[in-house]
Amino acid sequence: MLHRLSLTELSGRLARREVSAREALESCFAQIDRVDPQVKAFLSIDRTDALAQAEAADRGLASGEAATRPLLGVPIALKDVLCHRGQPVGCASKILEGFISPYDGTVVEKLKAAGAVLFGRLNMDEFAMGSSTENSAYGTSLNPWDTTRIPGGSSGGCAVAVAANEAFATIGSDTGGSIRQPAALCGCVGVKPTYGRVSRYGLVAFASSLDQIGPFTKTVADAALLLETISGHDRRDSTSLTAPVPRYRDALGSKSLKGLKLGVVKEFQVGGLDPEVESSVAAAVKHLESLGAEIREVSLPHSDYAAATYYILAPAEASANLARFDGVRYGRRVEGPDPFELNSRTRGAGFGPEVKRRIILGTYVLSSGYYDAYYLRAQKVRTLISNDFNKAFGEVDAILSPTAPTPAFRVGEKASDPLQMYLSDIFTISCNLAGICGLSVPCGFTSSPKLPIGLQLLGRPLGEETLLRIADAYEQTTPWHREVAPLG
Ligand code: GLN
Repeated sequence: MLHRLSLTELSGRLARREVSAREALESCFAQIDRVDPQVKAFLSIDRTDALAQAEAADRGLASGEAATRPLLGVPIALKDVLCHRGQPVGCASKILEGFISPYDGTVVEKLKAAGAVLFGRLNMDEFAMGSSTENSAYGTSLNPWDTTRIPGGSSGGCAVAVAANEAFATIGSDTGGSIRQPAALCGCVGVKPTYGRVSRYGLVAFASSLDQIGPFTKTVADAALLLETISGHDRRDSTSLTAPVPRYRDALGSKSLKGLKLGVVKEFQVGGLDPEVESSVAAAVKHLESLGAEIREVSLPHSDYAAATYYILAPAEASANLARFDGVRYGRRVEGPDPFELNSRTRGAGFGPEVKRRIILGTYVLSSGYYDAYYLRAQKVRTLISNDFNKAFGEVDAILSPTAPTPAFRVGEKASDPLQMYLSDIFTISCNLAGICGLSVPCGFTSSPKLPIGLQLLGRPLGEETLLRIADAYEQTTPWHREVAPLG
C-alpha cells in the first residue's frame, strides 16, 4: 500500500531509509499498470529515465542528502504543458506530436534540485482549453470515483493521477480554474498560486496574464511543501514576483482559526448550484466557524461578468500565443505550395475544434473595429473585478465558495455545448482575472453516486499562508481526505 502514502509520509520514510526511491517509483508503476487502462491519466511514461532518477535518488539518500532535499526520491508527474528536457511536451495536441523539450522549465529545475523523481506526462484538454479533458487529442481521462464521468479540466490527468494514487503529487497549470476544478472533482487538494509567485518559464503559454503553475496533492501539508519548492523569483519570467518565499509548512498545525475573518459571497448565493454541493459547502462554512473563524458576508458585485470577461481575454491572449505553432518551428508540419498554405494546412490539421474556436474568437475580439467593444472593455471589467476583491480583502482574510457548481458530470454531457462547459468555471475564473491565490480542498461527497465536492478558498495576493493554514485546520478536523477512490 506504499502508493497510498501522502507525499509527506513517503518523504519521511525515504529519509529514514525505510523504503527506497526505487520501491516508491515501482509502487506507482504497479498502480498505473493496474488502473491507468481505466482512468487514462498518462499520455506517456519514460520508465527507463525515471528508474535512473530513482537510483540516483537512492544514492543521495544513502549519503544523507535528504536533510537538504525534501523531495529526494519522491515520484511526481507533470501536466503535458511543462517543459522537461528530453521528454515530449505536447499539450495533448496533435500539432506538437513528436516534439521533445530542449530545456527544463524553472519549476522542473526546482523539483529536480529538491530531488523529485519526475516521470510521466499527464493528459489535459488541448492547450489547457477546457474543463473536462474531453478536448485532449488523445482521449478523455476518467474520474477514479466513477469512470463514466469526467475528472474536470484542463489538468484532468493531474487530478486523476493523485486521486488514483498513481503519483504522490502532480504539477499542473491554472488559467481559469484548471487546477482547482479538477482537484475538487477528483477529491484532492489543488493550489493556484498568486500571479507571479511561481515562474512560468517553461510553461507553454495559453493566456500569459492568467496562467500559473501549481500542485495537486493528497493533503494540504503536501501542497505547502511543494509550493515552497516551486515558488520564487525568476529573472527568466518578467512577471515573476521578488517577494521572498515563506516556509509555508510553518503556517500549518493549528486547529484554531481564532482571529480570522472569512467571507461568503453574497452574489454566489444564486440558483443553478447542485443542492449537495450547496449543503456540503454550507456545512464547511459552519465547521470553519466552529474552529473560531468569524464568518461575514462580502460582496463581489461584478462577479456576474467574470465568465464573459475571461472568455474574451483568454482567447485573445491564446490567439497571439498560439501563432507560434506554424509548421516551421515546432512539431507537426503539413507541406504546402507556399508558406501561407503550409501554415494553414498545418494549423488546420494540428489543432482540435476547441482550440480553433478560441483562436477565431480571440482574433475577432482583437480585430480593428471590435477591439474597443470587446477586448478593451473586458480589460476594464477585469479591473472592476480586481477592485471588488481588493475591497473584500479589506474586510476578510479569505473568501469561501464552492470550487465548482456541480460534481463531476458524465462524459459527453457538456461536450457539445461550449457555453455549458464554460459555466463550470464560474467560481474559479475571477481568481485568475484578479491575480489572487486560490485553493481547493475536499469538503464532502454526494450520496449516490459518491462523488467528491471541493471547497474553494480565495486569498489576497501572496496570501497563500493564510489559505494553507485554513485548509489544514479544516482537513485535520474532517474525514474527507482519508477517503480513497474505488480505483485509488
Ligand atoms: N476551463 C477554462 C478554459 O477552458 C480554464 C482552463 C484553464 O484554467 N487552463 O479556459
